[in-house]
Amino acid sequence: MTIREAFQSALGPRVRFDTPLAPFTTFRVGGKADLFVAPRSVEELQRTLALVRRFDLPWFVLGRGSNVLFSDAGFRGVVISFQEGFGHFTLLSDGVTIEAECGVPVSALVQFSRKAGLTGLEAAAGIPGSVGGACFMNAGTHEGNFAGLVSRLELIDLEGRRYHQNREELDFSYRCLALRPQAIILEAWLQLRPGDPETITKRIQGILQRRKASQPLTLPNAGSIFKNPPGDFAGRLVEAAGLKGSRIGDAQVSERHANFIVNRGNASAADIVALIELVRQRVLEDSGITLEPEVKVIGERGLHGH
Ligand SMILES: Cc1cc2nc3c(=O)[nH]c(=O)nc-3n(C[C@H](O)[C@H](O)[C@H](O)COP(=O)(O)OP(=O)(O)OC[C@H]3O[C@@H](n4cnc5c(N)ncnc54)[C@H](O)[C@@H]3O)c2cc1C
Repeated sequence: MTIREAFQSALGPRVRFDTPLAPFTTFRVGGKADLFVAPRSVEELQRTLALVRRFDLPWFVLGRGSNVLFSDAGFRGVVISFQEGFGHFTLLSDGVTIEAECGVPVSALVQFSRKAGLTGLEAAAGIPGSVGGACFMNAGTHEGNFAGLVSRLELIDLEGRRYHQNREELDFSYRCLALRPQAIILEAWLQLRPGDPETITKRIQGILQRRKASQPLTLPNAGSIFKNPPGDFAGRLVEAAGLKGSRIGDAQVSERHANFIVNRGNASAADIVALIELVRQRVLEDSGITLEPEVKVIGERGLHGH
């Protein structure tokens, strides 16, 4: 049995072959994945992981694709996507904890908590990620991040074993959650607090307005390209180096926000990577600071997990 036949027989309609990745990312860039699996249950995910092990394939976990850049050559392995399943969440009986599966859009939780009069998620308004991606990236702003909300995670390892980690066992840092190698987040428990619905609504509206005014939201992008270095802002450094508007092919440093790169239409991953390298080089020359990418650049092969 070939690899494709084995996936087809184990996963039926959940697996697709030679699937373009661009539509699954906010950058709208990336070649084809050999195998693209969108499991709808833990059992289907376990079957996928068993095949990954059996054939020793590269694999990558994809949330809503808002912080990734796939290569033009695509991915020679299995992309496991949570965009089509794992989308349930519930408010627990304590009235303040949301239990959410990894595929739930962060925006759905922001809206739910607003209506429920729960505060804590406002800073996440406008973050176009999934719960799994937001936990893994410790997404947020200076007003708060996921590390401040997560009380517990359920994870699964490559062997298909499920386990929990409580807040005190989770190693969050700036835009990072250091998980065990090859761990996949299945569910998160987010601890909110009772709040005044009107205040929450106003705060969310204010945050969304500020994003609209300062970010290039009408063109495909992947949010902040670089992490802020300690004590400074990547956008300020890029702007100070005179790079706003710089362009390689259809990839351009946004005129509106210098820490965003936008796809002006037909940018290739190679264009974007070249622009990232140009910006890093120029900022280093200009300020002596080496910027570290926040966006995950995914090569054609060799990745195992995230
Ligand atoms: C317009 C715009 C604005 C943004 N604003 C912000 C912001 O204010 N603050 C901020 O922090 N980010 C921001 N981002 C970046 C991005 O939205 C966040 O990093 C988001 O949390 C990524 O979630 P995702 O589901 O899209 O993850 P993906 O991009 O799909 O994946 C990101 C990483 O998470 C891993 N991952 C995804 N799901 C899982 C899982 N279930 N288990 C284990 N690993 C997983 C992936 O393997 C990958 O390494 C912005 C992006 C855009 C496009």
